[in-house]
Amino acid sequence: MIMKKPDFKCYCKNIDFGTYENTVSMKCPNIKRKGGWVSIDNCLATVMAFLWKNGIETLNSCCGHQKLETTVIVSEKSIKKMKELGYKNSTLDAPDNVKKQIFKITI
Ligand SMILES: [Zn+2]
Repeated sequence: MIMKKPDFKCYCKNIDFGTYENTVSMKCPNIKRKGGWVSIDNCLATVMAFLWKNGIETLNSCCGHQKLETTVIVSEKSIKKMKELGYKNSTLDAPDNVKKQIFKITI
């Protein structure tokens, strides 16, 4: 299933990292603990639903809160599919072994 890549915009205002102030609970299909419920930044909800519908296994995500690049970290086996969907690797500094799993989310 490939639908149109959803538009993305971060609407955060004064949201700090590590808080749950601007999040929504969503059921992540590749996570077993807590029944799969995870906290997703509101700004990223549509993007995450799109990725999950396309079979992407996500490990982490952050809209960047208007301070950092918006990123999603995916499992190793989802790297190829992310590229097929048109996403590019993040430019954030990260260790080489995980860098290839970090993608930036832009329109
Ligand atoms: Zn945001």
